[in-house]
Amino acid sequence: MIKNPVPWPNGARCAVTFTWDMDADSILHLAHPNDADTRISTASMLRYGPLIAVERILGVLDELGVKHSFFVPGWCAEQYPEAVKMMIAEGHEVAHHGYLHEYPNEMTRDKERYWTKRGVDALASITGKRPVGYRAPWYKFSKYSLEILIEEGFTWDCSLMGADVPHLIKCDKGDLIELPGNIQLDDWPQFVHNADLDYMMPIQSPQRAKEVYMAEFEAMWEYNGFWVNCFHPFCSGQVARLMMVRDMIREMKAKGDVWFATGEQVAAHTRQVIADGLHTPRVDVLPYYEGRRPEFPADYMPA
Ligand SMILES: [Zn+2]
Repeated sequence: MIKNPVPWPNGARCAVTFTWDMDADSILHLAHPNDADTRISTASMLRYGPLIAVERILGVLDELGVKHSFFVPGWCAEQYPEAVKMMIAEGHEVAHHGYLHEYPNEMTRDKERYWTKRGVDALASITGKRPVGYRAPWYKFSKYSLEILIEEGFTWDCSLMGADVPHLIKCDKGDLIELPGNIQLDDWPQFVHNADLDYMMPIQSPQRAKEVYMAEFEAMWEYNGFWVNCFHPFCSGQVARLMMVRDMIREMKAKGDVWFATGEQVAAHTRQVIADGLHTPRVDVLPYYEGRRPEFPADYMPA
């Protein structure tokens, strides 16, 4: 099923990277910059992430003995430094997720570079370490993101969905390790229902969501793939859902031969097996297209 699996450490059947995007209320300010202050219920729902859920999640991870990667917009790190300090104190990875959760693919190159650097500086000042991993807010990776990330010393990205296993994304400036995800391992489609955020999904039970997540895991385990999710503390850090996450990690551990690793660790391992000649990765050259394709003229639709 998977043509070119990465050889995982100690003969593991698959690699599993749990990630959490601590967006907090940045996304409300972005959606409603003029009147976010009037949308108090949604703000409270989002602030639950850094103020209540993060500590709870960290407690569960400590109990299970696993390390996760947390993507944090720079603004959120500045607003909620205690949450970020707790992640670092517990040995988890803190990775970049924009500054305001702004959308890279709606910006000029210079603007994207500016906000990326601000995000780097904000995280570094709180964690004491420059981030090396990145997920574009809303997965909105731009035509310029790769070269900006390379310039800023990143080693891995987790915004794209074009493969089953880690691989290289490449441009004129160099390359990065891509840890490809997929939307079925995000928690928004299962759980988020909020009018202010214009995202109204029929809410699923934790058990139903777990079926979706574990189906992906079973497949990756069977075929030596890679499993990376995208959960959110305000959402999957709520009690019933976090109980499900805890069950899921226990089941993965019980299955055996699973390498649990942070994004940084998976990227470093993938680099190493490439350097050692043990693996030839798929290489995706970006951007895929430049400008409008001439085969798709503006007036092609029949009247
Ligand atoms: Zn986000």
